[in-house]
Amino acid sequence: MYDILVVGAGPAGLTSAIYGTRGGKTVAVLEKLSYGGQIINTPEVENYPGAKKTSGFELATAMYEQAVELGAKIEFGEAVGIEKLIDGDGKPYFKVSTKNAIGQPGPDYEAKAVILATGVKSRELGLPREDKLTGAGISYCATCDGAFFRGKDVAVLGGGNTALEDAEYMAELANKVYLVHRRNEFRGDEITVKRLSEKENVEFVLDSVPVEILGEPRVDGIKVKNVKTEEERVLPVEAIFVAFGRVAENQAFADVTNLDQAGFFDSGEDCTTKTEGVFVAGDARQKTRRQLVTATSDGAIAAMAAIEYIHNLG
Ligand code: NAP
Repeated sequence: MYDILVVGAGPAGLTSAIYGTRGGKTVAVLEKLSYGGQIINTPEVENYPGAKKTSGFELATAMYEQAVELGAKIEFGEAVGIEKLIDGDGKPYFKVSTKNAIGQPGPDYEAKAVILATGVKSRELGLPREDKLTGAGISYCATCDGAFFRGKDVAVLGGGNTALEDAEYMAELANKVYLVHRRNEFRGDEITVKRLSEKENVEFVLDSVPVEILGEPRVDGIKVKNVKTEEERVLPVEAIFVAFGRVAENQAFADVTNLDQAGFFDSGEDCTTKTEGVFVAGDARQKTRRQLVTATSDGAIAAMAAIEYIHNLG
C-alpha cells in the first residue's frame, strides 16, 4: 500500500511525486509509456523559469531523476479503473487496476490517495486511411519523425504553437514546408509566425482544411480546400505533420471524477474531484492555459492536497 499513487509521469505527475516524497509519503508513479509526457517532443524550452534554455527531454529527465532520487517508485502499466474500498480499520483506500503494454491485465496497486495526471493525446485529422498511413507519411510529432523527410516537401497542419514550432523545425530539414491552417490568423505566438514568414521554403496555406490524404502505400500528397473560395488544391508532400492540439482520454476514471464534454477532468485550481482522496493535475484537467509551468503547478497543488487528506485520515 502506497500513500500516494500518481497516474502519469509527465511534468505534472513527476512534480506530484517530488512534493509527495518531500512530504514524507511513499509514492509510486504509474506510467503507460515513458516518462516526460508531451514535453519530450519539444526540442527547445525557454519559458520554464530557472532553465534558461533546455530541451523538453532534458527537462523531463531532470524531473524524473529528481523524483526517483527523492524516493518515488516508477511502475509501468496503464491504469484502467479505480475503486474506493475500506480497510479493516474502517479507513478508505483505493485499488487501481491496470493493463500492460500488450493489453493484458496487469497488477493492481493500492494507495491511500490517487493523483490522476494522465495528460492528453494528439487530436487526429479525422480523414479516411489516417490510421493506415500513420507511420507511412502521417505523423503527430515532427521532432520524432521529421528527420525521415530530410530534403522532401512536407505539410504541417494546425495554427497553434505546436504547428508553428513544427514548421520551424521542418523548415531546417525539409525542402519545402506548407503550413496549413483553417483560419487566416494563427493561434500561436506572433514572434514565431514572423520568423516563419521570413523563411523562403515555408508557404502559409491559410483558410484551408485538409479534405483527402493521397498516396498508397505511403503519403504522396494532401488535398486541401479553401473554406472561403471552396477551391481545392493538392499539395505534393511526402509527410503530413498533424498538430491539431490535444484531447483527453479519461473515461476509465469517469466513476470517481467529473468529466467535461471533451473528456477533461472538470476540476478547479484546487485539483480536487467528487471523490475525496482522488486528485487531478496537469493538462488532463479542464483549464484555459496548458503550459509546463501550469502543469507543474497543478502537480504541487494536488500532492499537497493529497498529503493533507492522508493526514486527516488519522
Ligand atoms: P492548440 O493551441 O490547441 O492549437 C491547435 C490548432 O489546431 C489550432 O490552431 C486549431 O485551429 C487547429 N485545429 C484543431 N482542430 C482542428 C481541425 N479539426 N481542423 C483544422 N484545424 C484544427 O494546440 P497546440 O499547438 O498543440 O498547443 C497546445 C498548448 O501548448 C497551447 O497552450 C500552446 O501555447 C502550448 N505550447 C507551447 C509551446 C511553447 O511555449 N514553446 C510549444 C507548443 C505548445 P484554431 O486556431 O482555428 O482553433
